Amino acid sequence: MQLSASLITVSYLVAGVLFILSLGGLSTQTTARRGNGFGIFGMLLAIAVTALGHVSSFGLLAAAIAVGAGIGALLASRVPMTSMPELVAVLHSFVGLAAVLVGIASYLGGHVAPSPTEQLLHEIEIFVGVFVGALTFTGSIIAFFKLRGTLRSKPLLLPGRHALNAGLVALCVVLAIHFVNKPVEQGLTPLLVMTGVACFIGVHLVMAIGGADMPVVVSMLNSYSGWAAAAAGFMLSNDLLIITGALVGSSGAILSYIMCRAMNRSFLSVIFGGFGADEGAKPAKASGEPQGEVTSVTAPETATLLRAAKNIVVVPGYGMAVAQAQYPLFEIAQLLRKRGANVRFAIHPVAGRLPGHMNVLLAEAKVPYDIVLEMDEINEDFPETDVVLVIGANDIVNPGALDDSSSPIYGMPVLEVWKSKATIVMKRSMASGYAGVENPLFFKEGTRMLFGDAKKNVDAILTDLRSEGSSAAA
Ligand code: NDP
Repeated sequence: MQLSASLITVSYLVAGVLFILSLGGLSTQTTARRGNGFGIFGMLLAIAVTALGHVSSFGLLAAAIAVGAGIGALLASRVPMTSMPELVAVLHSFVGLAAVLVGIASYLGGHVAPSPTEQLLHEIEIFVGVFVGALTFTGSIIAFFKLRGTLRSKPLLLPGRHALNAGLVALCVVLAIHFVNKPVEQGLTPLLVMTGVACFIGVHLVMAIGGADMPVVVSMLNSYSGWAAAAAGFMLSNDLLIITGALVGSSGAILSYIMCRAMNRSFLSVIFGGFGADEGAKPAKASGEPQGEVTSVTAPETATLLRAAKNIVVVPGYGMAVAQAQYPLFEIAQLLRKRGANVRFAIHPVAGRLPGHMNVLLAEAKVPYDIVLEMDEINEDFPETDVVLVIGANDIVNPGALDDSSSPIYGMPVLEVWKSKATIVMKRSMASGYAGVENPLFFKEGTRMLFGDAKKNVDAILTDLRSEGSSAAA
């Protein structure tokens, strides 16, 4: 069965509208599920129409989809929530690789356009698409290893790295001149050499980005993967792929901008890996360097503090995701709310390892949205807060970001928890967070450290709070 061209166009238009509705739905937690539904339906429509409209051998397509979907479903179902950021990075790399393969295949396919100008445009599309795809492919793989911890989060700052990047981009322009308007046998070599150069640029750009800037890199690679898909759409003359790629590319770019603003970083300084960073600045204090005495606290003592508190703020971070402590944490919040306390959750824009990471975990535990507040909404309330529970968070509550100009996170707004009457920090050791910097919060007068796995400690606090409730009832 072959679909008519007009039916394909209308279906693509409907799918494009569904993708826009999907993005709109994802903008708030209450509508996110519906947004996902629109996206899934739009994608099913897109695949079905593309298959019916352009494919003649359904058997081969079905086999490829079955194998790909089978592997994808198996791997995704095994990925724990804590590894989602790595999964996202790997998925971005697939989009990049797909754009490279589509570009090279499209070139080898010997497409001849009706006019020399259109032919030139087609070749430029291929060159640019392969460049962006190769950069996204290797950049995402390096991001994967950095998020996984296989590669250190410390930036690799080669001497003259900006000149090196500029030189490599100039080399790609020269290769482009040797590529266009040439027969396939002559054009293939510059195309493949440029692919290798772009792969190197992808590695170099992401290696040069420090741990603290990784959130922007993740959203930026998301954006690149969209542009790579849009380029593939141009190469294949597929309008829907162009629309979808442009939606992903521009939403990723907007997210990168929002993340940069949240971290008080310039977008250019992040994407060029420490561009404008003061390389002569003294290094941030190494972790492990003692900065004073810390005061420890036990779970029952924490429960006692919480019982007496009227205003409580919970600050979750990556450690809560690792420990999966969100469920008992919400039970604690419910118990305290029943006792009349005002309990709220404070979310830093780069908490965890993925934009919205903490929101997803709290939504999973059914924490009501109205008590989950963004940093800007709650930061001024800390002086009136009796107890702050910092659970597995570190960089996002580091006062050094505000007053230590040598810190890699200097300038990033943080949750100013130390302004509250008491701060309990739950973590396993004195180890630093993702950015690899010591945290002076642990040594502040009002701070008490509750060492151990966050889930075990939250369970112990919950048991203590419940036992008091049951003894009161008896
Ligand atoms: P951090 O990585 O700064 O700190 C997490 C803390 O959790 C660690 O210090 C660790 O200390 C503790 N921890 C780990 N496991 C457990 C456990 N089982 N129980 C208790 N504590 C535990 O996380 P934050 O959320 O504070 O900050 C996020 C960081 O990640 C920022 O630097 C951000 O730039 C970066 N990042 C964010 C991304 C995003 O999009 N959100 C993407 C990439 C990077 P200990 O080992 O002592 O227990």
